[in-house]
Amino acid sequence: MKKVLTIAGSDSSGGAGIQADLKTIAAHKMYGMSVITALTAQNTQGVAGTLATPAEFVGQQIDAVFKDIVPDAVKIGMVFNQPIIDVIAQKMKQYQVEKLVVDPVMVATSGSRLLEENAITALKTALFPISTVITPNIMEAQLLWGHKITDRRSMEAAGQAIAAAFNCHVLVKGGHLVETANDLLYEKQGQSKWFEGQRIDNPNTHGTGCTLSSAIACQLAAGLPLTAAIAAAKQYLTGAIAAKLDLGHGAGPLDHFY
Ligand code: PLP
Repeated sequence: MKKVLTIAGSDSSGGAGIQADLKTIAAHKMYGMSVITALTAQNTQGVAGTLATPAEFVGQQIDAVFKDIVPDAVKIGMVFNQPIIDVIAQKMKQYQVEKLVVDPVMVATSGSRLLEENAITALKTALFPISTVITPNIMEAQLLWGHKITDRRSMEAAGQAIAAAFNCHVLVKGGHLVETANDLLYEKQGQSKWFEGQRIDNPNTHGTGCTLSSAIACQLAAGLPLTAAIAAAKQYLTGAIAAKLDLGHGAGPLDHFY
């Protein structure tokens, strides 16, 4: 059985973060493990509180996992602060992790910060260069690029600039643009590829970013090359949105077992 590790934050309502990742990994019939970087008191309506794990204890969790069950791929989500990022980066190098999906989680859809402002530099310099791919959404890509993204052409400009600036492959996710659900992979060598998606009318999209990045990690663990892994992960995500689970009073979670 393939083994996938998620290093991310807990969402008490089960829709995003660690819980979305573990459900996604289980739906791929793989063995999921978790290193928890932060707790959130959260539901479909928003984040009521956040409590970071001490960085040293994040490192202890990573050591415990790698000294026993070595993952075939790792996904990194909410990392919250710079000391946590530094310890994760150091451990990923120490354990020579080769399949590493980094979702640069910054702000929840509800507006709550999931990454301290002064930690963005650490994310860029310590984690991006050692990743297989980073998966920013439009808002995160705008922040990393420094300009507004409104259409396919600006997504391409953002992808090119981010891949060059941080020496990594970048998947710019277009789901937050009004009329499309198309994502763009821009590789650090300069090639690019569009993944066309069908837009599904469903307001319940809590945890879509977490789900896509862990599905990519699963497909990499299975041995697929990056472009095929992204295509398969996008197909899985589309099914999870299309199943139209309806839970909670806000933006509800996805159905991982459709
Ligand atoms: N909570 C946690 C712990 C997360 O990791 C994330 C996203 O990665 C979110 C919340 C945000 O989810 P959404 O923006 O889909 O509401």
